[in-house]
Amino acid sequence: MDTFEIKKHKIWIMKSLRKGLGLGRPDHGQERNMFEKCPSCNTVFSRKELEDSRHVCPSCGYHFRMGAHDRIRLICDPGSFEEMAAGMTSANVLDFPDYRQVLKEAKQVSGLNEAYVFGRCTVRSYAAVTGVLDSSFIMGSMGATVGEKITLSIEYAQQHQLPLIIFSASGGARMQEGTVSLMQMAKTSAAMRRFSHQGGLFVSCLTNPTTGGVLASYASLGDIILAEPGALIGFAGPRVIEQTIGQKLPEGFQTSEYLLEHGFLDRIVERSELRDIIGQILKLHERRRSASWNL
Ligand SMILES: [Zn+2]
Repeated sequence: MDTFEIKKHKIWIMKSLRKGLGLGRPDHGQERNMFEKCPSCNTVFSRKELEDSRHVCPSCGYHFRMGAHDRIRLICDPGSFEEMAAGMTSANVLDFPDYRQVLKEAKQVSGLNEAYVFGRCTVRSYAAVTGVLDSSFIMGSMGATVGEKITLSIEYAQQHQLPLIIFSASGGARMQEGTVSLMQMAKTSAAMRRFSHQGGLFVSCLTNPTTGGVLASYASLGDIILAEPGALIGFAGPRVIEQTIGQKLPEGFQTSEYLLEHGFLDRIVERSELRDIIGQILKLHERRRSASWNL
């Protein structure tokens, strides 16, 4: 955009703001905000522009966070996704103060019953099970219900001999569920081990941010681990690590690019290529499966 166009764009935004439209993240169930500002280059875009560009900044390529259903639309063949266990919701098992209210607000903001959405679908005509963690639901944190739903998706894939693709975006364990949420790390990892021993394919796709107990359990156990560009991926936050070890962290620490360089990831995939790349992986897996049947 040249300077004149940028000014015109800003004037249009200011006019819209005066008419009472807001900036920021969308609120499901309420009037949708019309604009979003790129945290990387500060350019403001209408939500329509961002939706058209798959929630990737048209100016600098920054990958905005994506809701579970937007992600499903991006990856799965149109109309192929059949959601499972959609009605499962969390209970306040430890009677944690205000947790019920937090859950209620998270449902309103995200339009979901819990942070994990999964189901059967096809990707480029190959049948698969796809699961997505939505960071707009209490930062995509993993409590008992999310852990159970992730386990159900793994077990369903195992039972039906389907490949499993999970898109993670999470702040880690759900603190309101204390040790119960930490147990989900063992539960999901054990289910993943059984699935792997049966020859199941798990493609783990790490999106911004994937941290804490989610990264430290099933999300790191992918046969193939992909990540989106510039995603924050790590166990603890950089400030906590710096304070603990008393050292300055290297440039770009805990980003997809840094982790690829250090052998933790198989590939960084731009959002525009994600569906094709996953389709190719499923095709290769399918060929291997048919070859083993022929033996
Ligand atoms: Zn940008």
